[in-house]
Amino acid sequence: MLKIKKNIILSSYTTFRIGGRAKYFFSAQNKKEIIQAVNWAKKKNLDFFILGGGSNILVSDSGFDGLVIRLDNKNYKVNGNIVSVEAGMPLNELVKISIDNNLSGLEWAVGIPGTIGGAICGNTGAFGHSISDFILSVEILKNKEIKILQKEDCSFSYRNSLFKNNRNIVILSAKFKLKKDNKKKSKEMLAKYLNQRKITQPVEPSAGCIFKNPFCTDLSKINKKLAPIKDNRISAGWLIEECGLKGYKIGQAQISKKHANFIINCGQAKAEDVIILISLTKQKVRDRFNIQLEEEIKYVGF
Ligand SMILES: Cc1cc2nc3c(=O)[nH]c(=O)nc-3n(C[C@H](O)[C@H](O)[C@H](O)COP(=O)(O)OP(=O)(O)OC[C@H]3O[C@@H](n4cnc5c(N)ncnc54)[C@H](O)[C@@H]3O)c2cc1C
Repeated sequence: MLKIKKNIILSSYTTFRIGGRAKYFFSAQNKKEIIQAVNWAKKKNLDFFILGGGSNILVSDSGFDGLVIRLDNKNYKVNGNIVSVEAGMPLNELVKISIDNNLSGLEWAVGIPGTIGGAICGNTGAFGHSISDFILSVEILKNKEIKILQKEDCSFSYRNSLFKNNRNIVILSAKFKLKKDNKKKSKEMLAKYLNQRKITQPVEPSAGCIFKNPFCTDLSKINKKLAPIKDNRISAGWLIEECGLKGYKIGQAQISKKHANFIINCGQAKAEDVIILISLTKQKVRDRFNIQLEEEIKYVGF
């Protein structure tokens, strides 16, 4: 029997600390329970939502009228330089496990909240790396079938994947290929990356970067000498800052003074405050630069 809870407040399951109640909520500890929970929702004709660490989502104030399945499957196996890990494992724990086993590659991910499943779904990245750079294969559940997808079949691109817009696919586990290296070097890299985060990112509740860095197609209104452009993408934070929006507040939601691509929850922010702020930001950036920002975060229950 699955222990499915009712009317669970979702704000405490998100790093934004925003969101209403889930009609049903289940914390799945293993593959079998994930499959059972998905089948339970399908039988009842309910929508289901797979929740990882809740660090890249905005949940509506009215919550989610279906079953939220939170992944708490966290087993892993290290075999030489290959690490197999279940989707509910926190990304930070995988970084630690890798280094403990003298494996290098994921140091850049230290300090990024969330789970392996969430990171694969959004092809999480930082400091010029992406999680997909280290993936060999992904085990999924789709329409009652379990399949192994090779990396090439996952349609990974900048902050995107096959899974991001396909709520019917559940990531169950993944295999990573890392490099044998010495622990000391990895630990030095961790300290460097953590320090960089401390300097550039706010500590208040947030969902990380709200927008993707847009691809540069029309740069006619951009001062190319000043704009941070990398891999043909321009910093969304810079565009927002140039519009004078740093610190701008609606209700209890504020564009961070430290990093303009973060919206922070100053206390009791509502999802509605964030939505208005996002919409205003998009409009200002479009008017000023003729660039359409696209959300990196996912909306839940809207
Ligand atoms: C302070 C802070 C710093 C951050 N820094 C970065 C950064 O440097 N780089 C970066 O890319 N991101 C960053 N983020 C955003 C976020 O932490 C990452 O995108 C993270 O990988 C999301 O994982 P999650 O488990 O929290 O996903 P969630 O927010 O729980 O879910 C995100 C999406 O993934 C889906 N999902 C989750 N697990 C599964 C699964 N097993 N199967 C199928 N779908 C699934 C969900 O349904 C949802 O659509 C930051 C966030 C914060 C708050």
